[in-house]
Amino acid sequence: MTRTFNELMREARGSVREIFPAEAARLAASGVRLIDIRELHEWDEGHIPGALHIPRAYLEMEIEGAVADRTEPVILYCATGVRSLLGGQQLRAMGYASPISMAGGFEMWKAEGRPWTQPVMLTPEQKRRYSRHLLIPEVGSAGQAKLLASKVLFIGAGGLGSPALLYLAAAGVGTIGIVDFDMVDLSNLQRQVVHTSERVGLKKTESAAATIRALNPDVAIELHEEMLTEENVQRLIEGYDVIVDGTDTFETRYTLNDASVRAGIPVVHASVFRFEGQLTVFQPFVGPCYRCLYPTSPPPELAPACSVAGVLGVVPGALGILQATEALKILLGIGESLVGRLLIYDALEATFEELKLRRDPDCPTCGAGASREATAATPQPSAAPADSAAQQFVAPPPVAQPLVVQPLAAQPPVTPVLDSSG
Ligand code: ZN
Repeated sequence: MTRTFNELMREARGSVREIFPAEAARLAASGVRLIDIRELHEWDEGHIPGALHIPRAYLEMEIEGAVADRTEPVILYCATGVRSLLGGQQLRAMGYASPISMAGGFEMWKAEGRPWTQPVMLTPEQKRRYSRHLLIPEVGSAGQAKLLASKVLFIGAGGLGSPALLYLAAAGVGTIGIVDFDMVDLSNLQRQVVHTSERVGLKKTESAAATIRALNPDVAIELHEEMLTEENVQRLIEGYDVIVDGTDTFETRYTLNDASVRAGIPVVHASVFRFEGQLTVFQPFVGPCYRCLYPTSPPPELAPACSVAGVLGVVPGALGILQATEALKILLGIGESLVGRLLIYDALEATFEELKLRRDPDCPTCGAGASREATAATPQPSAAPADSAAQQFVAPPPVAQPLVVQPLAAQPPVTPVLDSSG
């Protein structure tokens, strides 16, 4: 039997309900699923927020995975309402009870001034460069676009900063700031892999920038050749989404901590000592800050610098990569961050240990009495304390520089900010 296009359309209208965009918007707001059945290039040029994309050619194949319940109403839309009507008829043939076609399609939706979004378009080169990210549902092109629009500040282009810089640049973090006033020294190269032998004597900022530029031209680089101080910290950290802390003095850590809490910027913190490293995320007013853990810095004799104590070069490498990982998770909004948890890595034993960290309600920086002028929008502190049934550990004063925490279960709790995670 031969049928004309008009006859096909008439037949489809007999079995598929048609609604205009106004009603589709109302139904979508009440939870009815919107399915965009246009081609990928049409979807990429703009679509209705929250819609699911199943190109017409894959509709029969993918609809059961997307909408298992055949009694559930679904609204199909295309550009003008033709493909969605015919697609709806196909769903009826598959036993779907209430497929709905949006008459007028996306063109009418847009013409009526209804909301639509356009995903950030990656260039063909970016699609290749980040193809392994695009394959992960948790990243995808939307996540990659987020990374490209994000800004990360590195305090220090040294042992921790080097691997973190390399991986965040490779990941396509759009803007990378580096604060460092040091020069590349031959003794740095055992672990500071962002630098090279031929750059000994050059500024670390310039050296790191050269490596990043060679690795990924998508990255904009902001260099700050200065020491982080009370006077400049606020200016330096302003506008960044995440700070990767590779500082190596206690004064700088406190300065950075207090300013980042005021500015509401999360800090991914790590420190290393010989074969050990530790890592956590300070999310202002959500988890503890550095001062919650270490209210005062240790006397200098208990805090030997890395240059005195030594470090196995790969240890800051491992910790720096973990810092980069935490930074990416924060930027993408995925996974469980290390907020309120301290990860301790022992390279000799090949073990990871985790300690729960508590906020100090009397913390001068983030406690109840602290000023929150710049962070009014940040979430209130979690009311849930660490598991009180867990064995209490104490946070000893930092014993090394960078510090290493040892759980001292046998000692009476002095500052009960650390709990056993077990
Ligand atoms: Zn605090």
